Amino acid sequence: MKLQVIGDPVLHSKSPVIHGAMLAALGLDVPYTAQVVRRGELPRYLAWARDNGVAGFNATMPHKEDLPPLLGGIDPAAKAVGAVNTVCLREGKWLGFNTDGAGAVAAIKNGLEIDPAGMTVALLGAGGAAKAVALALSQAGAERVWVCNRTLSRAQELCAQDPLGRLSPAAFDPATLSALAGQSRLLVNCTNLGMEGCPHQFEDFRFLDALLEGAAVFDAIYHPAETELLSQARRRGLKTLNGLPMLVNQAVLALEHFLNRPLDRKAMAAVAAAALNQM
Ligand code: NAP
Repeated sequence: MKLQVIGDPVLHSKSPVIHGAMLAALGLDVPYTAQVVRRGELPRYLAWARDNGVAGFNATMPHKEDLPPLLGGIDPAAKAVGAVNTVCLREGKWLGFNTDGAGAVAAIKNGLEIDPAGMTVALLGAGGAAKAVALALSQAGAERVWVCNRTLSRAQELCAQDPLGRLSPAAFDPATLSALAGQSRLLVNCTNLGMEGCPHQFEDFRFLDALLEGAAVFDAIYHPAETELLSQARRRGLKTLNGLPMLVNQAVLALEHFLNRPLDRKAMAAVAAAALNQM
């Protein structure tokens, strides 16, 4: 049995360290390696993987959205998001899953000690990460998730795909962000703003002042470990969490799929987080 993460670029991926540590902690001698697979090479990769003992793989950019039509089946979360980050070979069929959204919700519950059930959430962004997280928050029982995006039509498209009708599109200007923050106990950033290498930053952070008493801020970004958004939130006394626990929790859920059995999620997440801290 072999496991992999595929993508382009992928050699910087933290997945081999995270999965390597979890597999070692479980006493399993299973290699998990990173493999460069370029856009358009997925069919060739799937044939190669099947012939070479790959039992499962994680996918990162640019493959998450290209995988669904190439697989033998996908789970409801991956279908709703239209993207797959985990693929397993089961009885000769490649099956796809998406653990990003559930990983984020687990991170929010465990890391911020916040249960989104019944809550109003302000979520920034409408790209791939935002879609997975928004749909998972809806599934987790959030009463309303305001999906605020620079390109409003993308937010509208995302919200239209929520079968539970708990997502509402909104603009991304400072006045709208402040008005919606004023209803929210949780603010989630799924834009690129503040990410290392992204030339742009939030125009201003006044929306943080409008958040409800006891509110928390979760930023899906983990490079840098503390974005300007998180730093500004921390200085205002808000609870904050970066994207590493989301990365760790999505990996724990992916490993459950690879091994096809439940794991002690908290223990596995602790093992993975410790391995990342040693990097
Ligand atoms: P994406 O699909 O490219 O989406 C980017 C989002 O950022 C879009 O909503 C885009 O708005 C918005 N945006 C970009 N530049 C902007 C600007 N100057 N002003 C306002 N909005 C702007 O990217 P993604 O894959 O969703 O990733 C988003 C972030 O999540 C990245 O920083 C990534 O590192 C992080 N992430 C973390 C994890 C984790 O495990 N922690 C997993 C996945 C992603 P438009 O629609 O208007 O372009």
